[in-house]
Amino acid sequence: MNIELKAADGGMVKVSPEILQSFKAGFRGPVLSPDAPDYDEVRKIWNAMIDRRPGLIVRCTGTADVMQAVRFARQHQFLLSVRGGGHNIAGLALAEGGLMLDLSLMRGVSVDVNGKTARAQGGCTLADVDRETQVHGLAAVLGFVSATGIGGLTVGGGFGYLTRRFGYTCDNLVSMEVVSAEGKVVRAAADENAELFWALRGGGGNFGIVTSFEYKLYPVGPEILGGAVVWRAEDTAQVLDFYRTFTATTPRETTCVAVLRIAPPAPWLPIEIHGKPIIAVFVCHSGSIEVGEKILAPLRSFGKAVADIITRRPYTQMQSLLDATQPKGRRYYWKSNYLAQIAPQCIAMAVEHAARIPSPHSAIVIFQLQGALGELPVDHCPAGNRDTAFVLNITSSWEKSADDAVNQRWARDCFAAMAPYSTGGTYINFLNEEEGPERIEAAYGKANLQRLARLKQKHDPENLFRHTKSVLA
Ligand SMILES: Cc1cc2nc3c(=O)[nH]c(=O)nc-3n(C[C@H](O)[C@H](O)[C@H](O)COP(=O)(O)OP(=O)(O)OC[C@H]3O[C@@H](n4cnc5c(N)ncnc54)[C@H](O)[C@@H]3O)c2cc1C
Repeated sequence: MNIELKAADGGMVKVSPEILQSFKAGFRGPVLSPDAPDYDEVRKIWNAMIDRRPGLIVRCTGTADVMQAVRFARQHQFLLSVRGGGHNIAGLALAEGGLMLDLSLMRGVSVDVNGKTARAQGGCTLADVDRETQVHGLAAVLGFVSATGIGGLTVGGGFGYLTRRFGYTCDNLVSMEVVSAEGKVVRAAADENAELFWALRGGGGNFGIVTSFEYKLYPVGPEILGGAVVWRAEDTAQVLDFYRTFTATTPRETTCVAVLRIAPPAPWLPIEIHGKPIIAVFVCHSGSIEVGEKILAPLRSFGKAVADIITRRPYTQMQSLLDATQPKGRRYYWKSNYLAQIAPQCIAMAVEHAARIPSPHSAIVIFQLQGALGELPVDHCPAGNRDTAFVLNITSSWEKSADDAVNQRWARDCFAAMAPYSTGGTYINFLNEEEGPERIEAAYGKANLQRLARLKQKHDPENLFRHTKSVLA
């Protein structure tokens, strides 16, 4: 039986059983057509709002499989999408009717303890990398939720609890192994394919498929001082004002994330607070624990906290502390901007919109970034906005499609109210499905975007890697 796949130009391409068979004969991983028993499970991504059915899923087991799949897509002009950890809010991993190149079986990590580097395959999650590097008391700069894929996170920039000390995830890349649009394998590093190396550090999925990332590692853990302090929503304005002044004084080893939401029924929260609006500050101090105790004391003694779970804990536990709030399979819609500071009016808007949250899973989140980012020039790599101090992410999340409109509206209204206090910049990896050229320019800045567009013409002239936030206008 013929199967049909969506073509890059929008038409359809028939694939005969002979063509499919000859592809499968050389391919080592599973190849799933829509009638395969595990097709539905494998096609699911984190955001249930994105429910698309690829025409074929090819599950790569190594670089050779990736090369073969890219050549197959190119030869037949299939619409190609690339899945790393499947966590992109805009659902970039899934193209309706297209060929989904799935990297999620490629999750090997090896650590060079003396050289303080790790090489991680392109389908790893953050948890995969942290697990192996922490064996040696080392860590890469990764994000805040451990099930996120390193693939999309790194090629889009990447920030987390170590960013204030060491910069974006992509600032800490030593090299990458990349499968190009021609289906060739190349090394990209400062001394080899330097243009491609530049473009892949923030330029997203536009330039190639990274089969392995080589990261710089730093001595962190295996234990850090971290956790969260929680207050009732009545105290939000005072807590955010304190957060503003506290974050201005803490060293780069300390990163604070403010979260305004409804208290989940977590065992570490007092039962009387469950279901009530709260403000929490999550914090990780990755330096000396004794020094951290002194630094965090004012945060812990501020106002009348209803919970305080700051303690000495494994770094890997800190890295997964927010996981339960972001399960796979819920409906998600985000709006995000960068903030230069937390202005008093911005606090007032946050308080007002937090009071109207329509879902117990949604939140207004403010991540602290100020530090090492600003030490590199803005054209160091495409991941721009190095002058930013905080990332505001309005994370709307709910369960039923009938509630889509009300939850999306809340996020949009909150975003509009906070927009006057933004730098105007945003993060490419937090852009939702609707956000296009204007917001992409806000993520890179005009000059970086123009350079990306020139490099795109050179490295992917046929736009094979089109199912991503495009750098072409
Ligand atoms: C719950 C949650 C928490 C998050 N927390 C953070 C955070 O703390 N810090 C942060 O910086 N970001 C964070 N993000 C955003 C995250 O960086 C992006 O969603 C990113 O796209 C996820 O990567 P992925 O591989 O899981 O995505 P996927 O959906 O699998 O892929 C997205 C796109 O990335 C590209 N891509 C993926 N893998 C590769 C690869 N190996 N080579 C080339 N291109 C590739 C492809 O274009 C692909 O279409 C978070 C996202 C979620 C959902």
